[in-house]
Amino acid sequence: MSTADPLVIVGAGHAGGRAALTLREQGYDGRLLLIGDEPHAPYERPALSKGLLQGSAELAGFSLCGAQQLRALGIEHLTGQPVQALDTTARRLALADGTHVGYRGLLLATGGRARRLPGVAPGWRNVLYLRTHDEALALRDSLRPGARLVVVGGGFIGLEVAASARALGCEVTLLEAGPRLAGRVLPADIGDALLALHREHGVDVRLNARIEAFEGGSQVEVVSLVDGSRIPCDGVLVGIGMQPNIDLAQAAGLAVGQGIRVDAFLRTSDRQVYAAGDVCEFRLHLQGAFQRQETWRNAEAQGRHAALNLLGAELPFEQVPGFWSDQYDTSLQRVGDAGDGSPSVRRALASGGLLLFFLDAGRRLQGACAWGPGNSVAKDIKLCERLISAALPLPVEALADARVSLKTLLRN
Ligand SMILES: Cc1cc2nc3c(=O)[nH]c(=O)nc-3n(C[C@H](O)[C@H](O)[C@H](O)COP(=O)(O)OP(=O)(O)OC[C@H]3O[C@@H](n4cnc5c(N)ncnc54)[C@H](O)[C@@H]3O)c2cc1C
Repeated sequence: MSTADPLVIVGAGHAGGRAALTLREQGYDGRLLLIGDEPHAPYERPALSKGLLQGSAELAGFSLCGAQQLRALGIEHLTGQPVQALDTTARRLALADGTHVGYRGLLLATGGRARRLPGVAPGWRNVLYLRTHDEALALRDSLRPGARLVVVGGGFIGLEVAASARALGCEVTLLEAGPRLAGRVLPADIGDALLALHREHGVDVRLNARIEAFEGGSQVEVVSLVDGSRIPCDGVLVGIGMQPNIDLAQAAGLAVGQGIRVDAFLRTSDRQVYAAGDVCEFRLHLQGAFQRQETWRNAEAQGRHAALNLLGAELPFEQVPGFWSDQYDTSLQRVGDAGDGSPSVRRALASGGLLLFFLDAGRRLQGACAWGPGNSVAKDIKLCERLISAALPLPVEALADARVSLKTLLRN
C-alpha cells in the first residue's frame, strides 16, 4: 500500500454504488475505484421482479447513476471484473484479468447470488434464477402469454414473479415447501392474505409441496411432486433465497458467519476493510444477535454509512429496518422488528387491508407489518416508524381501532 493508493469498493451494486456516490458528495477527491463483475453501472434491484418483467421499467430508470455520471465524478468503474483475491496484509486485490490493485481503505459490498436448487442439472436451459438484470431479461423473454411457468419458492422473489407472470398472461403454478407463503419473514395473517390474493389471481399455489424430479430432454418439461402430481411446464423460476458472496472475505481470513461480520461501525475484523449491504452481518442492537438484512433500505443506508466511516467519521450504524413488496395492485410493508412473528394487536383497515403491531412488554412499538391495496399502507408504516423511535407506551385499544389516527398517538 502507498498513500497514493485509492479507496476501493468491491461490488458495484446498490450498496457499493451508493457508497461511491456518497464519498464524492462528502468531498473525497482522491482516487476512487468501483469494481464490479456485472457489465452495468450500479442499479437498484427491486424493479427486476416487477416493472422490468412487466415491461414498464428499463435499466436506465432504476440505475443509481449512469456511466457518464461516474466518469464526470472521477469514479473509476471497472465492469465485468470479478475480484479474485484479497490480501489484507499487503492491502492488495487480485483482479480476474491478472492485475493487482492496492488500497488504503476497502469496502466489500459483494451482495449475493440466487441460491441454486440442489439436484438441478446445469444443462436445463429453462430453469431460471433471478438476481441480476441479465437474469431478469432472460426470464422476461420466457414469459409469453400462455406460457406455463412453475415457480419454486413462495418467498418475495417467487411471489413477485408469479404476480408479474400472471399480469403477462402466463399460467403459473407456485410450489412452496413450507405450510405458509413467506413464512420466514411475514406474520401468518399476512401470509394468509397473500395466499388468498394469489389464488384469486389464478395462481395454482401448492403449499407443503415436495419436488420429486424434473423430467425432460434438454429442458424441463414436467415437474413431478412427491405426492404423485405432475406439472407440465415451459419454464421454471427458482426463488429459494440468496447466498451471500462471502468467499472473497473468507479466503482472506476475515471473520464471517452467515455474512461478513462487522462491528458497530460496519468495520470487518480488519480495520481497513468495511462491509455493507446484503453481504454484511451486523448486530442491530448492541446485545442483539448477528443478522443480515436483504433489503433496499439496508443497502442504501449501509452503503452511505460505510462511506462516511471510510472517511473517518467513526459513526455507529443504527437503523430501523424495513422493506416492501408489491404484488398485483397491492403492497406490503414491514418496519422494525417483528419478534417471534406473533402480533400483539391487529387493526383492520378501511381499505380492506391489515396493520399488525408488535409491542414489547412495556407496550412500546417494536415493529409493524401492513398489507393493503395500492400504496395505501405507506403512511401508516411511516407513522409506525416514528412510534418505534418515540418508544412511548401505547394504548392497545386505540391501536386496534382504525378510527384512531396513529398521528394522535404520536402527539400524545
Ligand atoms: C429481484 C429482486 C427484487 C427485490 N425487491 C425488493 C423490494 O421490493 N424491496 C426491498 O426492500 N428489497 C428488494 N430486493 C433486495 C435489494 O435489491 C437488495 O437488498 C440490494 O440489492 C442489496 O444490495 P447490495 O449492494 O448489497 O447487493 P447487490 O445489489 O447484489 O450488489 C452486489 C454486487 O457485487 C457484485 N460482486 C459480487 N462479488 C464480486 C466480486 N468478487 N468482484 C466484483 N463484484 C462482485 C455482484 O455481482 C453485484 O453486482 C430485491 C432483490 C431482488 C434480487
